[in-house]
Amino acid sequence: MTFISPALRSETQDLAALRAPLSAAERLAALEIGRALVSGARARADERPYLDAFLQEFGLSNQEGIALMCLAEALLRIPDDETADRLIAEKLASGNWDSHAGRSDSLFVNASTWGLMLTGRLVELPDELRGNANGWLRSLTQRASEPLVRQALRRAMKIIGSEFVVGRDIEEALKRSSSDSSLALCSFDMLGEGARTDRDAQRYFDSYVDAIAQIGKSVSNRSPKTNDSLHERSSISIKLSALDPRYSAIHRERVIDRLIPRARDLARLAAAHDIGLTIDAEEQDRLEISLEIFAALVNDPDTRNWRGLGLAVQAYGRRAMAVIEHVTDLARSHRRPLTVRLVKGAYWDSEIKRAQERGLAEYPLYTRKCSTDVSYLACARALLEACDIIYPQFATHNAHTIAAVLGLARSRRDTSNAPVDFEFQRLHGMGTLLYDEARRQLSDLPRVRVYAPVGPHADLLAYLVRRLLENGANTSFVNRFMDERVPVEQVVSDPISEIDALTTVEHDRIPLPAGLYGASRRNSSGIDFGRRSSIDDLQRCLHDSPALPSPASRYVTPQAVESAFRAASAAFIDWRRRPVTARADILERAADLLEQSRDTFIALLAAEAGKTASDAVAEVRETIDFCRYYAKTARELQGSAVSLDGPTGERNELSHVPRGVWCCISPWNFPLAIFTGQVVAALVTGNTVIAKPAETTPEIALAMCDLLYRAGLPRDALHVLPMIGKEFGEVALRDRSLAGVVFTGSTRTAQWLNRTLASREGAILPLIAETGGINAMIVDSTALTEQVVDDVMSSAFGSAGQRCSALRVLCLQQDCADRILDMLEGAMETLVVGDPSELTTDVGPVITAAAARDLEQHIERMGQRGRLRKRTTIPATTGSVARDRFVAPALIEIDSVAELDREAFGPVLHVVRYRTEELPSLLEDLRANGYGLTLGIQTRLEGTQQALFEATLAGNVYVNRNMIGAVVGVQPFGGTGLSGTGPKAGGPHYLLRFTTERVLTVNTTATGGNAALLTLD
Ligand SMILES: Cc1cc2nc3c(=O)[nH]c(=O)nc-3n(C[C@H](O)[C@H](O)[C@H](O)COP(=O)(O)OP(=O)(O)OC[C@H]3O[C@@H](n4cnc5c(N)ncnc54)[C@H](O)[C@@H]3O)c2cc1C
Repeated sequence: MTFISPALRSETQDLAALRAPLSAAERLAALEIGRALVSGARARADERPYLDAFLQEFGLSNQEGIALMCLAEALLRIPDDETADRLIAEKLASGNWDSHAGRSDSLFVNASTWGLMLTGRLVELPDELRGNANGWLRSLTQRASEPLVRQALRRAMKIIGSEFVVGRDIEEALKRSSSDSSLALCSFDMLGEGARTDRDAQRYFDSYVDAIAQIGKSVSNRSPKTNDSLHERSSISIKLSALDPRYSAIHRERVIDRLIPRARDLARLAAAHDIGLTIDAEEQDRLEISLEIFAALVNDPDTRNWRGLGLAVQAYGRRAMAVIEHVTDLARSHRRPLTVRLVKGAYWDSEIKRAQERGLAEYPLYTRKCSTDVSYLACARALLEACDIIYPQFATHNAHTIAAVLGLARSRRDTSNAPVDFEFQRLHGMGTLLYDEARRQLSDLPRVRVYAPVGPHADLLAYLVRRLLENGANTSFVNRFMDERVPVEQVVSDPISEIDALTTVEHDRIPLPAGLYGASRRNSSGIDFGRRSSIDDLQRCLHDSPALPSPASRYVTPQAVESAFRAASAAFIDWRRRPVTARADILERAADLLEQSRDTFIALLAAEAGKTASDAVAEVRETIDFCRYYAKTARELQGSAVSLDGPTGERNELSHVPRGVWCCISPWNFPLAIFTGQVVAALVTGNTVIAKPAETTPEIALAMCDLLYRAGLPRDALHVLPMIGKEFGEVALRDRSLAGVVFTGSTRTAQWLNRTLASREGAILPLIAETGGINAMIVDSTALTEQVVDDVMSSAFGSAGQRCSALRVLCLQQDCADRILDMLEGAMETLVVGDPSELTTDVGPVITAAAARDLEQHIERMGQRGRLRKRTTIPATTGSVARDRFVAPALIEIDSVAELDREAFGPVLHVVRYRTEELPSLLEDLRANGYGLTLGIQTRLEGTQQALFEATLAGNVYVNRNMIGAVVGVQPFGGTGLSGTGPKAGGPHYLLRFTTERVLTVNTTATGGNAALLTLD
């Protein structure tokens, strides 16, 4: 049985489809009980764990809370003292710590926060801190090298961290669980980021095996004779992302081959020990594939009699109810009891961002908290109704949710006249007081299991940050639960009434991804790579890639250039007279047409340029964005003349008019996006165009021109001339009607164009040149290794390294270099090199066999100077693309950036190490090569971010993310120095260069007198 995602609908429709989850009586009861729980807990505020008070005071709404979160996120992983000191100094100096003095009634926050920070114990503070925390901290941090501060803060972070973990390893965790009655019933979770390498995956798998065996042993030791049910024993939670580095819907076959067997082994082991195993819920685009894995486990005859297999379901996901129905059907059809943990979901903020970036048609999540709450209750009802075959586990720290679920269970019990077995779950370190209070007040509160993270401090950080975010979020229950300033009635309210009171269910400040840029420009739509149906469609379209004629068969003769210039000059007269709105309309129509013919262009990009599916999708989107963005900016620029202030009796107006016939010369690496970007920028401002696409990619350019003509562009306004660049240049750059040149390509050709233009007689013409770069990423030891590796992989090897923005030299602080390189090499091993018409391919061919040979020579040469650390392999068969066009990704360690004197335009990454004190000279070396295109920075130190930004020549600087894929209108793109002239493509000033300024001054008094002045009152 396969899960099929329901068709996309609006949130309003989704919510309407959820059955009213609670009756009127149940709603009233939930409010009453929930409020009683909060009041009861508030009355016992002094019993709450001190961390609660601490988190309430230092939340996300104040700078100090954010500073502490930054420290918590990074401090423990920094190996070197110097960097740790700088982070401490920066974060502590950024807050207004005095403002917290005396704010909390908690002894812990009020008096001992800093004691905890500085000594790791609750201590009395020096008097000066009580009065002047700011001054005292600053004086301390000015001497930040002082080991005391560093050690104390590290210890403090460990203390905060240890509040959320039960043990550094499973032995410690089990020991604690056996001696602490509040931890008697746990679901243990082995902490860690998702696997990036096969080695990681094996390590996580081993640690799960070990944990299951030990939990199993301890459970049977604890109750050898009692016949307690499986649900009364501790269990394990696993993350599928830990079991394979390529866990995604696209890599389905690999998932089936590798991940399912691993998950099955774990399930069998848990079954052998008769303990529960729950699969945690992760990102929404992994939902479908996770359900496929789950179904495979349900199907396993070896574990048929085991009742402990479970799945977590996120109520914030708009497919939650469909998932519950699917899992229930699965259980029934296999006659196999399953468990379902219902959560609201931990990744709301990042999922919203991701959906926006991907241009999804709808958010996969609800955008209002009350919608998630209602969804939760609707799912809870469905689970309780299926409790004969599903054992529901309600994970929440929200008093209203607890009360409402209990009400639903009571009703279920009354109607079915049968026992209803279920449990609540809470996270270790959270919800303690609430559930204690619930136990006191509610006789029918069922068992409460604790989700118990296990792992060393270094693995805790991502989890910790999630918890800090959860505790600090405005909408979160725990954030307001104990805050006496918020009335109980506000803390516990009825989500159904909240929905009823809304005019729109969709959040009015979270536009749909299509509306990200407001009313004036629609965002391009993307593909949901988590949906099987979209993936299958995309794969079909790639397999249907057309057979193309040889590029040379499309070439025109140099005579064609002359006649094209004549026709374009003649066409200029009419085209420039068209109102800018009419020209912009054509671009917008072209964008819409392109969106409709996306599949055709994706197939063409794969076939002609060797683009992988995700690169091709991104390129089509970028092209659509260019059309819409330039349409919008042209309307603003040329819609009306700018009237200028001046003396009375005179009208002064500045306008931007087109220049004439432009030559647009584009490269093969973005044969659609750069080609179109140049052409439509020139056209929309009223120029006519002679476009020369790259020698290797004429078909894509011709198809795009055809589309522009279909959108209404007059044929003579745009002439596409596929031919050899040099031959084109010789004729085109000498033509008398040429008005300007826009070029993207090599620095050498740009310089030739520049010289040739300079040698012309007559008017001096503008040249916009966008060229390459030797792009670096600088990483210090505050950066998160997994994030660095993800970003390096996409920046260096995405598009087979054939982007001008691609990462060429990775600069690693000595202290963290080995750790990062180790993971990077492991991640490289998982790269799929091969036929771009296969969706799973990460690295396709380079553009020609000659380019591949050139790259191989570079690798050999650099390898001789430095050290070839890693080379991946090319598969024996490479589909329809000749094998000699492939270059296996390479990682080469060199001693100095200065060794790189040219851009190696392919999947070749160089790495250098630096010591902190060498950073200035590293920057000097980077500047010395004269390029200034992109720079990546990975650091949590804002001071370093700013200093590097100021020091670099790079036109585009990316902090803590990858350094490719600039988005039109969001990250205008282009370099300085040898990397280009500007203005930036996709930026607000690009169109200006295609126009020339004119000023009209009219003496309005010439016809008599100054009427405007004389008629003033
Ligand atoms: C035992 C346990 C296991 C867990 N396992 C998982 C898991 O496998 N996967 C996972 O993702 N999470 C998991 N979580 C984390 C869980 O998702 C969060 O703790 C939970 O969302 C908090 O919900 P609440 O009812 O306690 O708090 P509440 O404060 O009532 O709810 C907060 C939640 O509401 C949602 N929300 C917030 N703002 C909005 C908005 N504007 N629109 C829509 N929704 C919004 C978010 O989900 C947010 O987390 C687990 C939690 C527990 C207790």
